[in-house]
Amino acid sequence: MKLKIEGDILIVGQENQSANDLWMWLRQRQFQSRFTNPGQETLQALGKKPPAIMIVDVTLSESEGFQTLSYMTKHHPHIPVIAMTHETDMVTMRRSFQLGASDLIIESFDSVLFLETLARMVEKARLNRYERLNRQISNAVSGTLALGSMMERVLLLAKEGVYAENGSLLILDDEGWVIRHLILVDQGREVHTRQDRLSQIMEKGFGGWLYREQQSALIDNTSLDDRWLDFPDRPTESRSVLGVPFISRNQVQGVLILIHGQSEQFDQQDLQFLESIALPAAMAIENARLFEREQQKSQEMFALYQTGLSIASALDYQAATKTIVQQIAATIGADSCAISHWDKSENRLTTLMSLILSGNQWQESQKMGDFLVVGDYPILQGPLFQQKISTRYLSDSAISQEEKVWMMERQIWATMIYPLIVRGETTGVITLAYREPGKLFTPRDKRLMTGVIAQVAIALENARLFEQVKAQTEWLTSQARELEDERRKLAAILQSTTDIAIAIDNQGLILLANLAFEQSFGIDALSILNQPYQQTLKGTKLRPLFERVQVEQTTLNLEVEAKSGRTYYANVTPVPNVGYVALLRDISHLKELDKMRTEVLSTASHDLKNPLTAIQGFTLLLMESEGLNTEQKELVEYISKMSKRMFSLTGDLLDLAQLEAGLSLQQQSCNINSLVETIVLEMKKQASLKQIQLETQLWPNIPTITCDIARMEQVLSNLLSNAIKYTPDSGTVIVRTATQQITEEQKTIKRLLIVVEDNGHGIDEDHIPHLFERFYRAQSPTILGIEGTGLGLAIVKTIVEQHGGQIWVESVVDQGSKFFVALPLSG
Ligand code: ADP
Repeated sequence: MKLKIEGDILIVGQENQSANDLWMWLRQRQFQSRFTNPGQETLQALGKKPPAIMIVDVTLSESEGFQTLSYMTKHHPHIPVIAMTHETDMVTMRRSFQLGASDLIIESFDSVLFLETLARMVEKARLNRYERLNRQISNAVSGTLALGSMMERVLLLAKEGVYAENGSLLILDDEGWVIRHLILVDQGREVHTRQDRLSQIMEKGFGGWLYREQQSALIDNTSLDDRWLDFPDRPTESRSVLGVPFISRNQVQGVLILIHGQSEQFDQQDLQFLESIALPAAMAIENARLFEREQQKSQEMFALYQTGLSIASALDYQAATKTIVQQIAATIGADSCAISHWDKSENRLTTLMSLILSGNQWQESQKMGDFLVVGDYPILQGPLFQQKISTRYLSDSAISQEEKVWMMERQIWATMIYPLIVRGETTGVITLAYREPGKLFTPRDKRLMTGVIAQVAIALENARLFEQVKAQTEWLTSQARELEDERRKLAAILQSTTDIAIAIDNQGLILLANLAFEQSFGIDALSILNQPYQQTLKGTKLRPLFERVQVEQTTLNLEVEAKSGRTYYANVTPVPNVGYVALLRDISHLKELDKMRTEVLSTASHDLKNPLTAIQGFTLLLMESEGLNTEQKELVEYISKMSKRMFSLTGDLLDLAQLEAGLSLQQQSCNINSLVETIVLEMKKQASLKQIQLETQLWPNIPTITCDIARMEQVLSNLLSNAIKYTPDSGTVIVRTATQQITEEQKTIKRLLIVVEDNGHGIDEDHIPHLFERFYRAQSPTILGIEGTGLGLAIVKTIVEQHGGQIWVESVVDQGSKFFVALPLSG
């Protein structure tokens, strides 16, 4: 029979007596024992180390034996005391039991009997110890809510209770995941165990068995039991094992496992003892866990809140990513964390921020940048395409070879990848990793990540959009600045030019008027900005010009006289997306020159007229005289013809010079219809030479106008003679008169219209704009032989304009021309 005694046996007696013999006997049988004399020596021995069992010789003198016995039962009630006596009298025996002896042996004892007694005592001591330990455990678990210290006390006391060498206590969550563990090796030294090993124990090992079966178990020899996983690197030998689940409210809160290096070290009583502590321990653990969970929850809430806060407040993309990565890494406790953006169209992943824990410091990883998803990052398929969270452990035999290589290359033990999803679209991933072997991501990590991921995705997307908007705004600002610079330059140029510049927008509001405008028109340029031009340019020739350009949408030119008395050549052009711009060039100087030229011409032609008249007179005389031969006659005729041409040219030049010099008109009332008829009559002869039909279509009751009749006759005869000249034989020339109503500057104007129409050669449109210029003759093969000076229409135009009228032409080559003269009607 093997007796397991915690501690030793203390014998209290006197030397040279039977107590001493007993001591010798015990020592011979390998029992740990001590011997003391009663009194002070015994007290000292007890103080040094309480024994498991005590044997007291009650027959000592002066009742020392009984005194010791009563002291023991009073002060060390859990230590069983055997009374030893050589007297078999009832009094001594009764007294011994009364004083609390657990048993009694009579001297010169039977060794078999004594061993039985000893076994009973050992059993009693054991029960006493269990009771004591139970009490201690109860105290330990009821007095605290701190899970860590509670676990330690429970494990140590349980170990003590069954004489185990080492043990472990694993605290589990609802899914059997080890959330806390305490493992003792080498007589109480705590060791750190890898998380992946713990999860193996819970999956396939003894811990898992206890969790699933919800019952305690005793293994006498681990080498014969599959439940015991054999880890070759286990720091301690374990042959005998005891295990008990801590169950509270039908849920396994934890498992307690106690081990001994030798086989068959535990028995059913040990198991019962463990079972007896299981319930209070389980309840206490549950309470502590609830408390801890509440604490943890509030911590998690706080962490989430903090992360949320910093995420929400970070709009700058770079800052946002860094804050997010830092917060997440710190909350989870992973040793590296990265955020990457996924470009779906290119299947490209760009790492935006990657932090690695180095020592206690977070450092930005240098390895940033882009890579293609396919091949480069095999674990990404799930998160990106199926929007699933992926977790990989190097220790997991189920991961693919490709993934294994990928992780080993990066020295990653565990990785967890979360897809970032915004409005159903994957926009990137968050990658967390552990480099420390054995580390696993806990349900808490997943819970925290799940709690924060949606916010992260949206915050990142917002930050990205913000960045885009910012970039766009910056671009626009720089563009606007450039435009503004350009505008300033242009404005400066326009402002300082001597040419007048004035622009209106499509709504007719003044956009710009420069200094030259202000000086020439006497209108404050600044005050008219953004004002309607109809009002500000009232009374100037610019206003009708702008009106016409808006209708005709083409560039128009006009001579304009400014208030300053200077003459400008105005050019008004529509400018797409801006409006209309008028540029006025000062041509006063040219005008002056022109005037001088006219004067010269006028004098020259006037002075030429007399000698020409003389030449003509003399040629007439010569032609009438006899004695000239035929050749001489021809020459004289040629002289006469040429001098006539010169005379007509000089006349035209003089006319023009006089007209342009602005000689006053002889205004009188006139009926245009009768004027037309007179001229037509005069032209009939010229027309009949070419069998041209000359017709009139005159407006009856045409109002009379005031005009210089001689000049008006000149207009009509010039136009008619041109029509006859530039119409082939047998053509038709029609003169029409009519009245017309037009609106100019919002005023209705009535005017008289004279139209000279022919069906002759017509004029090419290229020539039309120049037709009224001096000496301009439209050159075309059909009119090559027709004589002319190119001054007729210039004279006509000058006369018409001096009458406040307008002249223009419509013509189609080979079909004919229509010359229009419009004269103002008074009233
Ligand atoms: P010209 O003395 O050459 O006729 P004008 O000033 O009268 O000078 O006319 C200028 C040019 O206009 C002419 O040379 C001619 O080419 C063109 N022209 C004028 N009237 C007509 C017309 N009725 N039909 C065709 N061409 C015309």
